[in-house]
Amino acid sequence: MPCALRNCLTNGEFESLSLSATECLMTDPSTTLIHHPYVPPAGFAAPQPGVFKASTVFFPDVAAMRAFDWKDKSAYTYGLHGTPTTYTLEERLCALEGGSQCLLAPSGLAAIATVALALLRSGDEVLIPDNVYGPSRALAEGELAHWGIRHHCYDPTQVHDLARLITDKTRLVWLEAAGSVTLEFPDLCEQVRLCQDAGVLCALDNTWGAGLAFAPFDLRPGIRPALGVDLSVHALTKYPSGGGDVLMGSIITRDNNLHKKLKLCHMRLGLGVGANDAEHILRSLPSLPLRYRTQDESARHLARWCLQQPQFAQVLHPALAGSPGHDHWRALCGNSLGAAAGLLSVIFRPDYSAAQVDAFCDALKLFKIGYSWGGPVSLVMPYALSSMRSSWPQHLTPGTLVRLAIGLESTHDLQADLAAALQPLG
Ligand SMILES: *Cc1c(COP(=O)(O)O)cnc(C)c1O
Repeated sequence: MPCALRNCLTNGEFESLSLSATECLMTDPSTTLIHHPYVPPAGFAAPQPGVFKASTVFFPDVAAMRAFDWKDKSAYTYGLHGTPTTYTLEERLCALEGGSQCLLAPSGLAAIATVALALLRSGDEVLIPDNVYGPSRALAEGELAHWGIRHHCYDPTQVHDLARLITDKTRLVWLEAAGSVTLEFPDLCEQVRLCQDAGVLCALDNTWGAGLAFAPFDLRPGIRPALGVDLSVHALTKYPSGGGDVLMGSIITRDNNLHKKLKLCHMRLGLGVGANDAEHILRSLPSLPLRYRTQDESARHLARWCLQQPQFAQVLHPALAGSPGHDHWRALCGNSLGAAAGLLSVIFRPDYSAAQVDAFCDALKLFKIGYSWGGPVSLVMPYALSSMRSSWPQHLTPGTLVRLAIGLESTHDLQADLAAALQPLG
């Protein structure tokens, strides 16, 4: 036994190892520190899976290197192609959303962009709801337009408007329930049925529903064949992270051919996620339903309270009767208590100036000014809606809109914070 290795192997467990031919080549610590013979015993079981980090993964021999295929999960070939950590996260996200295959991207927006790059060609058209996640529209106006892919915005509250815009050039329809910032709830089932009838792929941005408010691949459970979207994209940055500290996105499908198309593009683009980030999401997933429910209850309480405040002309939250699309929300998510994420928006009466609304946001103490949602800290953000929509939506009252993302603080304390910040407005 080389002396450097013998010095390391002092306890009984190590002494019993018989040295292989490889180990006989090791004459120096620079080698033995790397090619060390110790292998931990199998059978370690604990609540959280291990974290595997790799760019390189070893093949047992050349024949295996030639035989292993990165396109399914039967073997490991390279860190970017997947590790035990990312495979585990992908499978759990499939279970959450009721899908069969999953791809992970470095952000929710990267997942959205991957779908566009994989499925759209020059000359194609894509339809997006007028209340789409803002950067998704910016992608359509920027890169997609440069590449000769046209987009049209449809009114998410009118199924016939979507029907009107579907042509033989339409290759993809984006759906979002509820819509970003204004939280209109669409007739998702009819939108999906329309796309199915037209033979057009439909992709749902399912960040708000998070796999908990409704089942994206089985919108009417029990009905066969299933009424569901073709792809569900999820900004894991929001609820699955739950900490306001990790960026990640997923693309979930049920059709293997569609998944393969997306996977090849995803691979060619070199998209991957870090093992520690994947671990953070895996660690947060078990508490996802609890956090979702808690923020939902708190947001609904505060939305009802906001309805009684004279400074607000309109309160937007799909579970409030009178909020745009409430009936669609109730039909899809309203069994038993129903489920809704922790977001609400308020529109101030038009006699309040934008500066007064800014002062309200600045006066809040617990609500921090920041983007994103689904984390522990409540957030506030004023939006200049008129620059974000094709025209001012008829179902919204004129005025400055502020979105509130409810965190995990006490509802009572959050209400007091809102009340104090409203007081100077009279
Ligand atoms: C936040 C968000 C995204 C994008 O997620 P990032 O990880 O921040 O890129 C996409 N869609 C919706 C609805 C979102 O709220």
